[in-house]
Amino acid sequence: MREVYLDYSATTPVKKEVLDAMIPFFTEEYGNPSSLYKKGRYAKAAISDARKKIADLIGATDREIIFTSGGTEADNWAVKGVAYGNKHKGNHIITTKTEHHALLHTCEHLAESGFEITYLDVDQYGMIKLEDLKKAINEKTILVSIIFANNEIGTIQPIKEIGELTKNHGVLFHTDAVQALGNTEINVKDMNIDLLSMSSHKIYGPKGIGALYINKKVKLPNYIHGGAQEYQKRAGTENVPGVIGFGKAAELAKENMEAHIKKLTELRKYFIDKIFEKIDTVSLNGHPDKRLPGNINMTFSYVEGETMLLYLDVQGISASSGSACSSSSFEASHVLKAIGIPLENALSSIRFTVGDFTTKEDLDYVIETIVTIVNKYRKISPYYNTKKG
Ligand SMILES: *Cc1c(COP(=O)(O)O)cnc(C)c1O
Repeated sequence: MREVYLDYSATTPVKKEVLDAMIPFFTEEYGNPSSLYKKGRYAKAAISDARKKIADLIGATDREIIFTSGGTEADNWAVKGVAYGNKHKGNHIITTKTEHHALLHTCEHLAESGFEITYLDVDQYGMIKLEDLKKAINEKTILVSIIFANNEIGTIQPIKEIGELTKNHGVLFHTDAVQALGNTEINVKDMNIDLLSMSSHKIYGPKGIGALYINKKVKLPNYIHGGAQEYQKRAGTENVPGVIGFGKAAELAKENMEAHIKKLTELRKYFIDKIFEKIDTVSLNGHPDKRLPGNINMTFSYVEGETMLLYLDVQGISASSGSACSSSSFEASHVLKAIGIPLENALSSIRFTVGDFTTKEDLDYVIETIVTIVNKYRKISPYYNTKKG
């Protein structure tokens, strides 16, 4: 049976070149980067090299890149760090209703310890309004944290304009760019970004490694205390193979970005056009074009999403009903709710994310399978048949 993976926003396979770059650091070059002898120095130099590659991908300088255990830790550190480090200045944080749980749950935690959080609304496409942001900033605001590109619906926010606004108001700006990395141009200097979260496993690198970009002008309190690693900003013996893999993945992402975006955008268009052609009462969630090249989030009305996912799984197809954390519950996704999708339609929504290894033939198979299941379930749906008369 054919196997088709369409969940590249959940995680990606490690590319062969990435794995090849990592392997020596498990078995031969296993030195501790803090050791002063040759093996240690070799590992340390390799980390510096990887750091440069990641800095290059986002227009930062290498000293501004600090490795973390992933995107979740980077988000936690950025938001809690600014909050605890600026308590004397204010206690107000602005974010959106469509953040990843790494950000939302961090904010909920801070709210319990006296911070005030404003969750900005978004429009039907998932876009914030700059006017709303401007109005929300007050003299107690210490941080604006807005996701660069949404993991569920793919919407890309007006980051440069947000950076301009926060700069003019003297407020720090953090963005979770885990999904945006490698999928759209990012330049932290042009965009006035102070803090930016990244994760390796969303860009064909290994899991358990990520980074936080910290603008050199920003003083962020440490989150993990211990040794002097990472310019004394993040303690713990470095995940050397992980760092090397992330560096290689970042290098490939930069080299291939244009072709990658073009390919994914074409596949996305192909899939969406075919679905609209073959199925009625279906809609696309998120912005029509200001979206991640590989993101397709669609509502198949009158078909229960979890049932569809199970059927797809049986046919060898991996897709998602929203974010991975909510895949076992029947609660509607907070993102679909925020863009005003009614509960029954939210529960009929599926996210397909295409990637570098997706082919047109894969999509033809998936489209055919979707048509079969939708027709089958609608045939026995009283709601659908009542609507049709
Ligand atoms: C995957 C993801 C994260 C979490 O990153 P991990 O490295 O898996 O901890 C955070 N934010 C967004 C938008 C993501 O897609």
